[in-house]
Amino acid sequence: MARDGTVARAETDDGDQAVITVEGVEKRYGNTVALAGVSLSVEHGEVYGLIGPNGAGKTTLVRAVTGTTTPDAGVVRILETAPTAVDRNRVAVLPQNFAPPARLTAAELLEYYAGLYDDPRDSRGVLADVGLTDAADTWYEHLSGGQQRRVCVGAALVNDPEVLVVDEPTTGIDPAGRRTVWGLLEALAAGGTTILLTTHDMAEAERLADRVGLLAGGELVASGPPARLVAEHGGSNRLVVSLDGDDTEPTAVDTLETAGYAVSTGRGSVTVADVAPTDIGDVVAHLESVAVDYAGLEWTQPGLEDVYLALASDVERDHRRLATQQSRSLEELADGGRPEDRGDGGGGGGDEVVTGSNSTDRHDGGDRPQ
Ligand code: ADP
Repeated sequence: MARDGTVARAETDDGDQAVITVEGVEKRYGNTVALAGVSLSVEHGEVYGLIGPNGAGKTTLVRAVTGTTTPDAGVVRILETAPTAVDRNRVAVLPQNFAPPARLTAAELLEYYAGLYDDPRDSRGVLADVGLTDAADTWYEHLSGGQQRRVCVGAALVNDPEVLVVDEPTTGIDPAGRRTVWGLLEALAAGGTTILLTTHDMAEAERLADRVGLLAGGELVASGPPARLVAEHGGSNRLVVSLDGDDTEPTAVDTLETAGYAVSTGRGSVTVADVAPTDIGDVVAHLESVAVDYAGLEWTQPGLEDVYLALASDVERDHRRLATQQSRSLEELADGGRPEDRGDGGGGGGDEVVTGSNSTDRHDGGDRPQ
């Protein structure tokens, strides 16, 4: 795609038309690289979940997609249009820190937000959808944290959007409220709404997202259906054996390793890698044959969390290594090191948080979802 965005139509891997396209997007705040050339696309009716550690660039990417920050490089298109020019009736955005007026009731708030659009949904219907009919007449400030987030989700949905961009939809919501919001998002997706969400909750990503993108250090380090990512990066099934006393650990390890298992040890437990369900009995038999007592067995399959831990920590380690190399180079320079010892680090880098940035960004925690 051209840098000026003149090629509007982007195709996803399987040929469907992309509703959201991000191509080579870069964003810096002073020395901090928030996005280091991110490309992804979200197709019609798809739920795309962005995961990644704090500071990975998720919110910056969401802001680039919704037009509240301008990338330094790259192109973003939403519904084939620049984010700042897209028809607000077709898109809904729920920022992480959205805070509506506190002294309006849940019903008044949804009515108010419905009034901002040309052809809104019936606000009472939305209130019912987010499970708040009983709290209709309660001031926002008197709702529980979970109810407040549900009102916010409702406010984002009153325009019946074709595209919903939501930053951490369920943070701070109790488990029941979380399930209500999940159900809502699933119903929207089933009805053809395209959803881009960020989340810290791996269960949420695994349940809702058709595809997940893992951002770390401003880079998209993996993207694909959760099951594929787990198969590719999640590691193997494992059996954790909690031992009855530490003194049996060497015997347990020795026995299992002799039997050909890959074993690691933790606090009072041994973890046996790559154990199929049908192998559990064999592991137990080996332990019993050498009189090792165990207090419990826990068999687990890898999940998205394992992918996250494996890949995000790799990237963080690389970034730390780079930052250390850079600071060593600078120290050497300060100590009178030769110019050729500088390496390619240039200045600074690392995860420095820049305040007083000269960015012209609009703050995205405004008083309405867009
Ligand atoms: P995430 O949402 O994944 O936690 P963010 O996109 O908020 O990550 O931040 C990515 C990086 O950019 C972080 O290092 C953050 O401190 C920095 N950053 C984000 N917004 C600003 C800003 N307005 N000014 C300076 N630094 C920022």
